[in-house]
Amino acid sequence: PSSSELFGIPFSNTRMQVAVDWVVKGSAETDTQGCQSAYYINVNSVNLSAGNAQLYQVLQNSDRNFIDGSGMRIAARKAGMNLADNNNGTDMLPGLCQAAAENQRSLFLLGAQPGVAHKAAANLSQQYPGLRIAGAHHGYFDDDEQVVDCINQSGADIVLVALGSPRQELWIDNNKHKLQAQCALAVGGLFDFFSG
Ligand code: UDP
Repeated sequence: PSSSELFGIPFSNTRMQVAVDWVVKGSAETDTQGCQSAYYINVNSVNLSAGNAQLYQVLQNSDRNFIDGSGMRIAARKAGMNLADNNNGTDMLPGLCQAAAENQRSLFLLGAQPGVAHKAAANLSQQYPGLRIAGAHHGYFDDDEQVVDCINQSGADIVLVALGSPRQELWIDNNKHKLQAQCALAVGGLFDFFSG
């Protein structure tokens, strides 16, 4: 993918299907490096990272950043760049579930209020025949070790982390070296959206 930069944050300027393929298949090809991190960069995370050096550093050191939102498209245009696609989590999830089902990659849903991730998991399993959801856990916990164990024991390939920004990005960065999954993707309020 072509690599670009906005507000000092590198990102992959790719079509959505390319982004999906990287999460579902490509991130496994680098498995000697362990779990790969992927984030969506939107106006909110750019704003937050301007006042949060730790978040800024995490976004700079991620394995993939995808660009999300029309505000970012405008910023890109002003910088003389054309974005291939708006790669937000909500629009990407259907393709991701489809590709995960086709390629036998399982998902773990981490985050949101108790019950929400499980409900989203049930909805997605119903909508995407063959999709394996390895597990789900709510996002209001203190014990990272216990949650990492839960994810690892589930055997999940891809972890969707919905803890809100910046907690989700910092959580992935702090824990990815302990995760056995191929990829952890920060997805914001996605489970709320898919649990209805
Ligand atoms: N969330 C969570 N744990 C937390 C804080 C937030 O699981 O400690 C969840 C929250 O329930 C919601 C999601 O994170 O499902 C996204 O929250 P929000 O919309 O505030 O974040 P944003 O999408 O703006 O980053």
